[in-house]
Amino acid sequence: MKKRLLFLVVVTLLLSACLTVKHVPPTLVPTIAIDSSETTDKLSNAVTAESVALLLETAVPSATLPPTNTVAPSPSVAPTEEPTATTTPTPAWTATAALTPTATIEPTATFWPTVTRQVLPESVSAGLAPCQTRIVDTELLAMVTQQFSLPETYAPPDLVPLSDYFDDSITLGQDLFARQAIIDPLQRIIGAMHEVGLRPSIISAYRSYSEQALAWKWWSSQYPGRVAILSARPGYSEHQLGTTVDFGSPAIDHLFHVDFANTAEGVWLTNNAHLYGFTLSYPANTYEITGIKWEPWHFRYVGVNLATQLFTSGQLLTSWQLENLPPPCIP
Ligand SMILES: [Zn+2]
Repeated sequence: MKKRLLFLVVVTLLLSACLTVKHVPPTLVPTIAIDSSETTDKLSNAVTAESVALLLETAVPSATLPPTNTVAPSPSVAPTEEPTATTTPTPAWTATAALTPTATIEPTATFWPTVTRQVLPESVSAGLAPCQTRIVDTELLAMVTQQFSLPETYAPPDLVPLSDYFDDSITLGQDLFARQAIIDPLQRIIGAMHEVGLRPSIISAYRSYSEQALAWKWWSSQYPGRVAILSARPGYSEHQLGTTVDFGSPAIDHLFHVDFANTAEGVWLTNNAHLYGFTLSYPANTYEITGIKWEPWHFRYVGVNLATQLFTSGQLLTSWQLENLPPPCIP
């Protein structure tokens, strides 16, 4: 905890000259100048793996890290290769990536698997804006996948500090923000967990494009060959929507780790989050569809109806979106 707090202070100091983005609380914009080698070097020297993981949200498979790695998470919670899920139901969904696009095939959602980027058929892309200039409203179901990204300029209009609604036992003293639209559901789900004796935390919430860019830059410098599985590219994180949170558990020191799925908080969320409108975006063994490794801590608010439908059917949010929503932009 002290390391994290120290890191946040260090980051704040280092990046005090940050740019201000409209609608984004200043503390959420650590830097736009991510090309500054000075900033990067200082960060590399200052941060610990624990604090980086907290900020960047990534579970690093220990087996994939270089043996000389000096920033690996502490051994007690060192991320491991994705284990067989024992507390999560086996996903019933199947990949829909197989396709043979031709000019005559009626476009369907299965044309756009998220892992393999493909050019949208012209009949579909006509009239669409490039994802870099995509207009995003406050629609709760806005599609953000590893194919369809958010513009650099997008920030939710109704961000509020979680510290206005939750005490430090939940926020861990961090300056977290989320959309006002999910505050009530968040209070309900956390209240329900408290009622059964659980002690959840929120270890990450809204993340700006620039924060994600900083994350990407840092991981690129550390593990250039593996960054694709270690960090989402800026614009490709659901956290930029402000409706996604990462839950933590005291059992694993509130860290990002697949063992979260085995904690009391993780088990409860797996089985009950949908009742409060939250869905697990990246379950185990769905990488081929989502392009994201298992993140048992990452929940996105989509409303009770859809969350329950997804939970009951076993369908991924990503798959549901591809099947039911028009492509939002040209990748
Ligand atoms: Zn997350």
